[in-house]
Order: sequence, then structure tokens, then C-alpha cells
Amino acid sequence: MDRRKFITGTIGGASLLAVSRFNNLYAWGQSNGDDKLPAILGGTKSHHDLWPDWPVWKSAYDEKVLKVLRSGVWSRAKVTAEFEQKWAQLIGTKRCLSVVNGTNALIASVAQFNIGPGDEVIVPPYTFIATIQAILMNGALPVFVDIDPKTFQIDPSKIEAKITSRTKAIIPVHILGIPADMTRIMAIAKKHNLIVIEDACQAHLAEVNGKRVGSIGDAGCFSFQTSKNMPIGEGGAITSDNETFMDQCFSYHNLGLPHGTQVGSVSGGGVRVGTKIRFTEYQAAIGLVQLTNLEKETETRWENARYLSEKIKGLSGISPATLYPETTKAVYHLYPLLYNKDQFKGLTRGQFLDSLRAEGIPCSSGYVPLHTQPFIKAAFESKLYQKVYDKKELDYADFIDKNQCPINDRICNEEAIWLTQNLFLGNKSSMDNIANAIEKIHSNADKIVRKLKK
Ligand SMILES: *Cc1c(COP(=O)(O)O)cnc(C)c1O
Repeated sequence: MDRRKFITGTIGGASLLAVSRFNNLYAWGQSNGDDKLPAILGGTKSHHDLWPDWPVWKSAYDEKVLKVLRSGVWSRAKVTAEFEQKWAQLIGTKRCLSVVNGTNALIASVAQFNIGPGDEVIVPPYTFIATIQAILMNGALPVFVDIDPKTFQIDPSKIEAKITSRTKAIIPVHILGIPADMTRIMAIAKKHNLIVIEDACQAHLAEVNGKRVGSIGDAGCFSFQTSKNMPIGEGGAITSDNETFMDQCFSYHNLGLPHGTQVGSVSGGGVRVGTKIRFTEYQAAIGLVQLTNLEKETETRWENARYLSEKIKGLSGISPATLYPETTKAVYHLYPLLYNKDQFKGLTRGQFLDSLRAEGIPCSSGYVPLHTQPFIKAAFESKLYQKVYDKKELDYADFIDKNQCPINDRICNEEAIWLTQNLFLGNKSSMDNIANAIEKIHSNADKIVRKLKK
């Protein structure tokens, strides 16, 4: 069958013709070397090769990391400072502070903007749990705003309705590596005098109007955990132009000792409540090696993702995420698709994922709804919340009622499909294989449904 025809048409005459043709020729489940038949029905896999490894081994680790290990200087010192300077420069902020991970970058930022008990923070539910924990760890209340189903990001048109006299901040999350609508979010924040902390933990080098995320709000938070596009094992960073805030973050990350206190010094008088979440020199050394490839890897993902989106855009029932017009780069930590089983003859999302995996394409259904998980209720039952908030505010049923996010729930429970970033480090032909696999499943959906019913 002519694939171009297939892509531009919906599941119509052409694909039905193909189905009936193969229907007669091949028995279910037999491997017959047929590359038009889905692998789950015994056809040939769309993708045979291994996918790119993650993290990528780089020979420069040998020199850079061993040098640090041999030096015996392992706690925060010059290499960390060099890494921070480079990261700030790359993101486009005056300052950067490295910390142990993205979770603590968020916790520290929320704390140092003085967001705490009695304050409300606006967040999307479509995120990693750490975003919400950072609010709860500081004793504040998360207020969930549903997502835009086309972009997977917080829906800016729904933010203002959730602002109250207690709202202190918005934490937009550039989830999946796709920038949130920062133009509208910043305008809303300005109008209501709110702090904006960008959760850029999945969005290293993503851009809005040529400006990198993490440099647009009051602060940006990054993660360097192994799965992320910039992997160090564990690690995180805060970026900002706000010198006072960054001095405070430094102090907080080093036991509340004044900014500039030498690490290891025991004589500095503590000036604030603080913790110890310092980066190490060997983390910084790994980070400096990663920086040599990050821009190139980011470009490869961006090119491949756009190529794949273009290839599959005409298919009914499966669509790539839409980017906001101001997006000048999305970095696809995860490449999302929206699945509609009605256009796949009732093939459930789970069955689609199994079919895609059988083709040699690793994939998953992604997040489950976060805003209804028990950790929020646990926070409400904690001593701190019980002391700070009155009974009505901690009425959990009421909280759930006020924080409904039906679009998020539908996307989590029925529609989202994720492909991980490392698949996009390959070549164009592997993108063709993904597109082929999806098309094959699409045009044979009824056959798969019948087979799986048996
Ligand atoms: C990974 C991640 C975090 C937390 O970062 P860690 O380094 O794993 O602590 C926070 N927010 C989002 C959106 C993330 O993906």
C-alpha cells in the first residue's frame, strides 16, 4: 500500500483493502516475514536495531572525572563553581546554584521566595510528584489548574479563576520538555504580582522566543537525574537573575551559613534555617563533560521529533503534541502522543502499547493522576498543616472537589503515550520505523482487536 496515501487519508478505503488482502493470506500469530502485518499478529517487527544507549558513555569522563577523584577535593569547590558558571551562561541567567537534585532545587526555591504556611501555589497536575512535594514540604497549599489537552501543559486560560488573595506563586512545568505558554503565564503573574518558579527539570535548553526556559520566570529549577536529557546520576540546579534570592539559596543549601562561607568552615555564624544539599566536585566533572554534547543531542532530538510529527500528522486517532507559537525549541525529554481508541476500532491504549512494543518500539502510558494521590491527604493530616490551617481548609473531600482536572485525568487514564528521549538520538530511518509501526497498527486495528479478543 502506498504510505503517502495512507498518511493523508483517514482509515478509509485504502486501508480496509489492505486489511482484507492480508486477512486471507496469513494466519494469526505466525511469523511470515510480512512487513505489512503488525508484529503482534506475526508480521515483521518495524524496528530491529538496538535504540541508543542512555546515558551515553563519553571517553572524556576518564580524564575529567578521574582527575577530580585523584585530586582528593571532592566537596564543593572550583569544579562546581565552573559548572555553575557554565550552566548560568547556557541558560542565560546571571547566577546558578547546583544542588543535590531537582526536587531540592524546587524545595529551596519555594522556601527562599518565602512561600510557606498559608500560601497557595498554582501548579499543573501533569507533572512529576516532586513539583507538588516542594510545595507541601514548605507547608503551602497546591492549587491545581487543568492542562491544555493539545500541549500537555498548564492551561493559561484557566489560571486566573484559581487566583485568590492567598496565591503567592505559579510553578509552570515545562513537562516532557515542551515549553509552557510562558508569555501568557508571565503576563498573569505580573498582573497579580505572583512569583514564577519554572520547573524546567525536563526541559534543558528548551526555548520560548529564543529565550531558554529557566531564565523567563523569577527562577528556574533543573534536574540532572540519569533519565533526564542532561544526566549526572543525581543533581540539580537553580537559575535566576535575582542576586538576593540566589545568595539566600546558597546559604540555605549550605546549612544556613552566610553566602560565600567556605565549604567546610565551621566558624561562620548561621543566618537562616538551612539544609545541606551541596553538589560534589565529581558530579560537576560529569556535568562539564555532558555539557560538551548537550546542545548537539538537543538539536538531534528536536530534528527527529519534528520529522516524526510531520510523518504521522495526517493519521487519525493519534496525534503529536502541539507547540505554542512562541516555542522556538522543544527538547522532548518525552515525546508524547494522544491516542483515541475510537479511531483504532476500539483497540485500547494498553493494547496499542503492546502492539507498538511488539514492533520493537519501547513506549509507556506515562503519568497517573497526581492530584488525587494520598500524599496530599497525608500532608493535610500532618502536625504542621493541622496547626496552620483551619478544619475547612483541610477538608480533603472539598479539596478534591475544588481541584478537579478532568482533562488531565482523561489524558493520564486513556490517551497519553510516551516515547523516551533516547529514541530520538537515532537516525531518520528509526523515525521512519516508528511511523511505520504506528501506521501498520492503525490499518490493521480491527484484526488486532479480533485477535486479542480470543
Ligand atoms: C525529575 C523531575 C523533578 C525532580 O528532579 P530530581 O532530580 O529527580 O529530584 C522535578 N520536576 C520534574 C518535572 C521532573 O521531571
